[in-house]
Amino acid sequence: MNHAIETDQLSKQYGDVRAVDNVDLRVKQGEIYGFLGLNGAGKTTTIRALLGMIRPSGGSVKVLGQTLVQSGRGPWARVGHLVESPSAYPELSVRENLDVARRLHGIQNPKVVDDVIEQLTLTSYADRKAGTLSSGNFQRLGLARALLHRPELLILDEPANGLDPAGLVEIRKLLISLAQENGVTVFMSSHILTEVDRLATRMGIIHHGKLIEELDADQLEKLRAKHLEVRVRDLVSAYAGLQSAGYQPVLKEDMILMEEAHVIEHPDDIARILVNGGTPPTHLAVKQQNLEEHFMQLTGGIK
Ligand code: ATP
Repeated sequence: MNHAIETDQLSKQYGDVRAVDNVDLRVKQGEIYGFLGLNGAGKTTTIRALLGMIRPSGGSVKVLGQTLVQSGRGPWARVGHLVESPSAYPELSVRENLDVARRLHGIQNPKVVDDVIEQLTLTSYADRKAGTLSSGNFQRLGLARALLHRPELLILDEPANGLDPAGLVEIRKLLISLAQENGVTVFMSSHILTEVDRLATRMGIIHHGKLIEELDADQLEKLRAKHLEVRVRDLVSAYAGLQSAGYQPVLKEDMILMEEAHVIEHPDDIARILVNGGTPPTHLAVKQQNLEEHFMQLTGGIK
């Protein structure tokens, strides 16, 4: 298996602070890897090491098959990145900023600038000075620059920063389509679970510099699954009634849990069956908190 990113025992020490602690990352080609951690967990430091911007205190980094070495050439023509707050020439327009980036990449065709402006829905801001943009549009400009040269790997530090809810949805769609349609590998960090949860095909959780857990697609799917919680006064007859109606209820403590897709979409059908069976529900709720709880437990419990 070819990995787009591979680190072995990657570490970075700043004085007494072990910002990154023996991290072994494996990011497969074409996946969207969500790198999740609280503030100060070590995300930015890891990303800087992946981009060769800082020298690790220990361990090694391989990006697109190339081991990064000090002052060596990296595979940067094939990588797009956005790290922390993006920078831009404030007095130049959005289009001019992107045109500078185009020339730095040695791309002849000026049309790539318009294409990426459209891709990031910056068309109506193309002639605005970068210094006058809202933080969301400034972030879009940073993303546009990361995408300009059609990289096969995107390394994005908190790409959702500053975006409004509509912008979030749009960027999420863009990243999903880049991964699914163009096979682009996306490595993105966030401190907010819901920002990565909707699109990540795999997730790594970093805490106090350590990669404390990785969740693959199957594990994520299980944790993302919704269920219906049912409380009734007579658990036994309600349970039997639901079973004879063809469902597969599960008893858990003082509740009945149901996971079938039809149940999640039509909890009212369940309410009707329970009422008709003489066991009306005292509580009926669709829940999806497993992943959030899981994250909180992991990052809250470890000091
Ligand atoms: P955030 O979400 O707040 O950006 P993060 O997960 O990106 O956090 P890092 O910025 O990687 O976290 O920081 C990890 C730890 O390393 C923190 O304790 C931070 O204070 C420390 N650190 C980062 N850069 C430096 C530096 N240049 N000098 C000293 N300490 C640093």
